[in-house]
Amino acid sequence: EQKKSGRVEPRIFSHDLYLNLKHVQDLRDGLQQAINQRQLYLCYQPILDSNSLKPWAFEALLRWDFNGQFISPDVFIPLAEQSGFIKDIGAWVLNRACIDASQWQGVDDASVSVNVSVIQLMDEGFISTLDRALVTSGLPPQRLHIEITESIFADNKKKIRAQLDAIKQRNIQVSIDDFGTGYSSLSQLQTLNVDTVKIDKTFVQNMADGGEAIIRATLFIAQEFGSQTVAEGIETEADADNMRALGVNYLQGFLYAKPMKNTELAAWISQHNSNQRQRA
Ligand code: C2E
Ligand code: MG
Ligand code: MG
Ligand code: MG
Repeated sequence: EQKKSGRVEPRIFSHDLYLNLKHVQDLRDGLQQAINQRQLYLCYQPILDSNSLKPWAFEALLRWDFNGQFISPDVFIPLAEQSGFIKDIGAWVLNRACIDASQWQGVDDASVSVNVSVIQLMDEGFISTLDRALVTSGLPPQRLHIEITESIFADNKKKIRAQLDAIKQRNIQVSIDDFGTGYSSLSQLQTLNVDTVKIDKTFVQNMADGGEAIIRATLFIAQEFGSQTVAEGIETEADADNMRALGVNYLQGFLYAKPMKNTELAAWISQHNSNQRQRA
């Protein structure tokens, strides 16, 4: 039996913490391999006009099957950011997304919307990465949107401003993602002059618990600054009706489609278009 003497157990890490750290290291190694072996792929989720339900854009969402196990981008993107892989991954994503979008059929001039992390945006080579993706794919720049989270407001504002200016000079559109969840600064929204504000799904799904007030305030500000609005996380017809009634321009969510592989997109588009024709 152990006595409560002065002896201190040399336990720096608990067993669970050790396992977690080991897990993180495994994921990092796996991510490096996934990049080298091209095991990452993109899925696309439609963003529809809230009234006509016509596809306006498709958001590119990165997927990673790690030894048959699905790892959420909410887990591996931060790892990629910490380990510096994000620049390579991000360049690959941009290139792939532009090529895929340039080949979509039956969606008129729907755009592709690509998530870009702050580290990537701030990188010296980012603008030439953008140019290369557009040239390689032949995608018209106005059909490319980049989504940036609000956390950019916390970073070097001058540098971000310069990068966003270079992006806008190219006629690429800029969206602020997950609006309302982070370091909101309404005045920054004005100076950065973004094309689109994406309302986070937590507000859509908690309309009754204060979400509605946040959405109304966001819509008011977005409209004042001439930005369009997207609501994420539309899961039910009631969600869609609520957002339409509030005046949200575009809707995205599982009600319409989960993120799909590029190879599955054509079937969804033709089904959606034929449903739309039947309604008309
Ligand atoms: P996000 O950009 O806010 O993307 C929307 C997330 O909401 C996606 O999660 C999407 O699958 C999910 N979603 C869409 N509709 C619904 C719905 O109706 N209900 C619910 N509950 N969820 C819905 P996902 O694909 O797991 O991505 C998570 C986050 O990872 C993204 O959030 C984005 O911040 C990041 N991410 C994904 N791909 C990339 C990428 O290529 N680059 C970077 N930097 N970040 C990425
Ligand atoms: Mg996004
Ligand atoms: Mg979002
Ligand atoms: Mg999000």
